[in-house]
Amino acid sequence: MGWDVSQGLEGLDHNFATGKVEDLVRWARKSSLMPATFGLACCALEMMGTGGSHYDLARFGMEVFRASPRQADLMIVAGRVSQKMAPVLRQVYDQMMEPKWVISMGVCASTGGMFNNYAIVQGVDQVVPVDVYAPGCPPGPETLIHAINTLHEEILSGELLRRRDETGAGAGMVVDQRD
Ligand code: SF4
Repeated sequence: MGWDVSQGLEGLDHNFATGKVEDLVRWARKSSLMPATFGLACCALEMMGTGGSHYDLARFGMEVFRASPRQADLMIVAGRVSQKMAPVLRQVYDQMMEPKWVISMGVCASTGGMFNNYAIVQGVDQVVPVDVYAPGCPPGPETLIHAINTLHEEILSGELLRRRDETGAGAGMVVDQRD
């Protein structure tokens, strides 16, 4: 049996030989996301659990969390964002490579959650463009992986970058909770 050169290029219209370079770039991007090491509160524990061997994030080409934002292209905002932390979060985002993506993990990051007060940002999309919202308190690893897979689909379709170019906003997709 010969080697199928299109194996692993799921979602593309073409095989390796006939595919458009643009399709291949999108596939390579979605298959090699580098998350920044960036946790803010209790949600970060679930994010760390997702990075452990049990959930095997390496299946999606992204097991390594980068210590430097300059080596990262995915920010997972895991936990509540205090007003004091907001400029730091934005600075980390600005230092990340383009094109870059943001997942808002948990109700606190997405809306302020139970912390409806002056000290907490009432939605991290006021600070950075959010592509996928993962609901829950906290979202479990299954929900975070679902959010990552949703982001993969958006990157592969090319729709996300088109929208970012036109409006400067993220995709703002909400995934269902899976725990
Ligand atoms: Fe903590 Fe829940 Fe807020 Fe996550 S959503 S930071 S688990 S209180």
